[in-house]
Amino acid sequence: MTSDLLSRRAAALGGHVPTFYRQPLEIVRGAGVHVWDAQRRQYLDCYNNVPHVGHCHPRVVEAIAQQAATLNTHTRYLHPMVVEYVERLCAKFDHGLTQAIMVCTGSEANDVALRMAQAVTGARGVIATDATYHGNTSAVSALSTRRPPIGGYPPHVRLVPAPEAGMTDAEFAANVADAIAELEAAGEGFSGLMLCPFFANEAFPTVAPGFLCATEQVVRDAGGLIMADEVQPGFGRLGSHWWGHDWIGLVPDIVTLGKPMANGHPVAAVVTRPDIMEAFRSAFGYFNTFGGNPVSSAAALATLDVIEEEALVQNAATVGPHVTEMLRGLDHPFLHEVRGAGLFFGMEFRKDGAPATDFVAELVEQVVARGVLLNKIGRHGEVLKMRPPMPFSHQNAEHLVQVLDDALKATPLDA
Ligand code: PMP
Repeated sequence: MTSDLLSRRAAALGGHVPTFYRQPLEIVRGAGVHVWDAQRRQYLDCYNNVPHVGHCHPRVVEAIAQQAATLNTHTRYLHPMVVEYVERLCAKFDHGLTQAIMVCTGSEANDVALRMAQAVTGARGVIATDATYHGNTSAVSALSTRRPPIGGYPPHVRLVPAPEAGMTDAEFAANVADAIAELEAAGEGFSGLMLCPFFANEAFPTVAPGFLCATEQVVRDAGGLIMADEVQPGFGRLGSHWWGHDWIGLVPDIVTLGKPMANGHPVAAVVTRPDIMEAFRSAFGYFNTFGGNPVSSAAALATLDVIEEEALVQNAATVGPHVTEMLRGLDHPFLHEVRGAGLFFGMEFRKDGAPATDFVAELVEQVVARGVLLNKIGRHGEVLKMRPPMPFSHQNAEHLVQVLDDALKATPLDA
């Protein structure tokens, strides 16, 4: 029983282990864009950007099974799979980003990125936004505002106000310039700026392409590196481009990847230029027991194959705008904005000019109760966040919008 599992989980794993939703779900099976719970109830998955090419895609399952039955070992033996994968991956990048390090999680990838910037600049000072999350190592968790570090933020970290509606590119760039000046004045030096080019954890405010051009110039003028955390928007989710930095028109020095990369198998990467890789490798060495092992590489390679063969980036480019158009057609007094790109979209709700936090919390529950999984984001939890698997169809989109319409009608305005 799910309730037994919940209490056994708390007893075994400790308290405060996060779950989604008021009634946590016990998901036991997945296929394509659907998952099923322990009571055999079907859900349309509109949230989970890990099963990028669809839950349990047979091609990825087969690649994992075959390689696991052949060999899996640590990464200091030669194996062609990892080389082939990195060659294929890097071919998807411009800007001289031709080399990669394979790791296991987005957190590790960002941790490596920070050290690459340190190796190149000889400085530690780093800037992120004040409404983000870049992972759970001690270095990157110091960039997160959700759970401030014990003892306060380290002196080499500066957090600038996250973009929000109405903020101009010049304002964002000026805040970054001020933060750089503070780091220099404090004797910390400046190594770089880490941000998600889609501002996924900042509730993806609507920003125009080119929004980060002035910021990029400020960072370059100060001798820092741009680290694009593509853990969420990467691998074509935004439809028009494979990578968020190309979508927004930003030239990064380092790109980090994770979540969707191997359809759920723990694989992540740091992609960069050879000069940066050389500085990092010679400063720190670096090896990662599991990062890029044969099974992980097979899973990542199969995922890449499926994205290409099933034209999933194109699918995101055609289905995504159809979804946002239909969402804009929903009529609700609190609906403030429908936004997003490709298969990454959301709805912001405001009540009397203020974030409709409680309303959105209740709306999420109403939607889940109707068999669709999504969630919320934003400083005040006022934005519905949706990132379905990439094979999401027009029919799935219509189902989502119908459920949202019903849930909106069922959610009390005074929730
Ligand atoms: N960067 C971003 C933008 C993320 O959203 C996350 C996880 N949500 C991470 C990094 C960390 O990835 P992981 O959980 O794989 O360590």
